[in-house]
Amino acid sequence: MAPSKYKELDSSLPIAPIVPTDTKDGNDRLIVRPSFVLHRVLTGNPVKVINTHGHCYSLETGQDILDASGGAAVACLGYHMVRVAKAMQEQALRVPYCLTSSFSTQATEDLADFLCRSTGGNMRHVWFTNSGSAAMEAAMKLAIQYHQEEDPKSTKTWFISRYASYHGNTMGALSVGGHAARREMYDGFVRHNPTQRISPCYSYRDRRSGESDGQYVARLADELERTIQDIGKDNVAAFVAEPVVGAALGAVAPVPGYFKAMETVCKSNQVLLILDEVMCGAGRIGPRPTDQFPNPLHAWQDPLIGIVPDIMTMGKGLGAGFSTVAAMLANVRVMDKILHGSGLHNHGHTYDNHPVETAGALEVCKIVQEKNLVANVRDTGALLGKLLKEKLGSHPHIGDVRGMGLLWGIELVKDKVTKERFEGNGKIAAGICKLGYTAPHSIQVYPGSGSTNSKQGDHIILAPAYTITVADAHQIASKTATLVSEYFSRLR
Ligand code: PLP
Repeated sequence: MAPSKYKELDSSLPIAPIVPTDTKDGNDRLIVRPSFVLHRVLTGNPVKVINTHGHCYSLETGQDILDASGGAAVACLGYHMVRVAKAMQEQALRVPYCLTSSFSTQATEDLADFLCRSTGGNMRHVWFTNSGSAAMEAAMKLAIQYHQEEDPKSTKTWFISRYASYHGNTMGALSVGGHAARREMYDGFVRHNPTQRISPCYSYRDRRSGESDGQYVARLADELERTIQDIGKDNVAAFVAEPVVGAALGAVAPVPGYFKAMETVCKSNQVLLILDEVMCGAGRIGPRPTDQFPNPLHAWQDPLIGIVPDIMTMGKGLGAGFSTVAAMLANVRVMDKILHGSGLHNHGHTYDNHPVETAGALEVCKIVQEKNLVANVRDTGALLGKLLKEKLGSHPHIGDVRGMGLLWGIELVKDKVTKERFEGNGKIAAGICKLGYTAPHSIQVYPGSGSTNSKQGDHIILAPAYTITVADAHQIASKTATLVSEYFSRLR
């Protein structure tokens, strides 16, 4: 058999917790292993988390790991929110499931109502799924349906997305995503889906010398316009982007005016704008209040983004890791078209709008609101960013420290001046993450990169819980700085 190109990355760094390498345990039970290659790279054989406390995992080995990334930017309330667990338990005891294509439940309606209100009435329809990928599939289907409702002969089925993007792992979401490494194996299938990618808004690497914000934005908007014209505006259904790019770039926010300019191009070509807020939404970037949105929750409500999407998706922090819920929301314009047309979104999975999941997410949303956690995200996030810049900004292998709220990315470079990337397609970031799992570091950071045809280097992401204190922010920044410094001093 030909050797797999996905063979594990070699590393001289030991993994702290050692577990057997065979596939059966002592009782001859099959050991469940993560199938996703990145997990193998990071952890070799998986170690069991047997308990949690505060913002920590307790491992079967006796080691505690401080979770500075909220898992995959998910656990926004830490691990002990009894209220959420109870809400889900109560729901499971009352109405654990019903045929959601025929019936509704109070929990699902209340969460939909909460989320529509949180958009200031801009969104009118919510569809709950069980993953961000499924929410993106629903969004893409709704975009195509919108154009079909307008004109049954519509040929608007193309999507324009950006290099260095990640929108999920299902086939449709992979097609629009720019993460080449995750797409590569399925390229024979997904490349037939009509998608064109354009440049991300990635100031650190892509802005030309001397180029102002306005000039950079105009260049990117022009690229979108030309791409629409090349494909033919009658063929383009939607432009898809993350307001703040998470996994694919490492917490990259746009330059001011970027989304306004992209929106203008979309509107003039009857192209819908889909914002993927699976990672950066639900309060994660600490959107700043405005007169229009005094209690913002969504990334697009922050003045830096400053637009109202036609369709948006949420996930991760919406359920905080308790509930495996995600959501697609559609604005009034899109929903009016459907309501005055067929009246039905032509979509659905068995467990969509599941009452136990929505009950959990509703409680998460209530806690975020009651405890004013988005403000805490802004304050502790600003502190965390400042500390990271102070401690790591001058390190010779740190190219950039960027982020918003409690979503921070640290880009790792071979050469700070030339911004040359490390070879190995994620090896450095994975190595740092792996070292973090060893004592005395015992900290979880989230590694990224892995896209072979886009231009980003390795990065690590920090996305701690919205509940962290000032002391937690100091601890996370210090531990991260020590971890990164030690990793690179070992490399020498
Ligand atoms: N969109 C973005 C921006 C994401 O970061 C992710 C996951 O990391 C997804 C979509 C897919 O979400 P899920 O893994 O829940 O399917």
